[in-house]
Amino acid sequence: MASAPALIDRHGRTISYLRISVTDRCDLRCRYCMAEQMTFLPRAALLKLEEIALIAERFIARGITKIRLTGGEPLVRRDVGDLVRRLGRHVGAGLDELTMTTNATRLANHAAELAAAGIRRINVSLDSRDPETFRYITRHGDVAQVIGGIMAARDAGLAVKINMVALKGLNEAEIAPMLDWCVDHGFDLSLIETMPLGAIDEDRADRFLPLTAVFDDLAARFPLTRDTHRSGGPARYWRVSETDTRLGLISPLTANFCDTCNRVRLTTEGILYTCLGHDDQVDLKQALRDGGLAGLDTALDRAMASKPARHDFDIAAAAPAVSRHMSVTGG
Ligand code: SAM
Ligand code: SF4
Repeated sequence: MASAPALIDRHGRTISYLRISVTDRCDLRCRYCMAEQMTFLPRAALLKLEEIALIAERFIARGITKIRLTGGEPLVRRDVGDLVRRLGRHVGAGLDELTMTTNATRLANHAAELAAAGIRRINVSLDSRDPETFRYITRHGDVAQVIGGIMAARDAGLAVKINMVALKGLNEAEIAPMLDWCVDHGFDLSLIETMPLGAIDEDRADRFLPLTAVFDDLAARFPLTRDTHRSGGPARYWRVSETDTRLGLISPLTANFCDTCNRVRLTTEGILYTCLGHDDQVDLKQALRDGGLAGLDTALDRAMASKPARHDFDIAAAAPAVSRHMSVTGG
């Protein structure tokens, strides 16, 4: 139970979901996410594991019930297992759920320890099951390694949701087969519209695929019924009838979901962003170092007083909505 005032923003939305980017680094370079040449933060700038844990625990005391560890690629951070174990102790005791989003390149080695630490569900990015297309999108990834990681997660008892960014001319023909594959394996599938976050080497508009059209195509091929499930996220869900598979649509461009926003995001540098699409922020690292838990509380109250009402994504705009990449803010 929360032992301190709940986090309610200036629009009356209760904030119950924290995403933590534990590193901005990644072993892949997905074209819609990163440029080929990226400058990453110096290690000295990163929050120490103890600081991440203290901040997360303060959030839990203030009513956060769900935490997702993400990045960058969370499994490239060496001490991430220690963080999962520390935060895992709060599952069922303040925290309803601890989850992770990963590209699964290293999941085969980590799945069992994540499950043992209290993670029950995991999101894995998989934009293509075709080796060449996967290599092209990620610039050098090996899809067999990723699928091996996914199967290891399933074998460790983790529920798996596949995240697939819909990319015009790249993976659109693979969306229906991906849903079939997810049904066969008992995975959920979330489709995501590409968002204008950070500079990349291409024009995102060239690959933008509105999920409205994708959904119509899927609805013609699969028996889909509306599912009222909410994962604490922005997806709208459908169930593939008589299967365990849910289809989620994350459509920030074609169906704004900001009215029900319940989340904030902590970067690996300790900056708290209150919206993916704006620069409003508070520096929790400084607040913790200068003022301890009381300093954190003051900063969290400031963050609630400034959370924007909604993002203003425009895929056709000349510049991204914000200069930071999803990997920095925490996807
Ligand atoms: N590396 C991990 C992964 O790929 O799952 C976690 C971090 S990644 C930033 C989290 C999610 O954000 C992934 O599903 C990825 O496909 C998605 N993503 C990254 N950049 C995006 C963008 N510009 N628009 C939409 N989704 C994006
Ligand atoms: Fe890395 Fe994930 Fe971004 Fe791909 S989407 S480059 S795996 S952080």
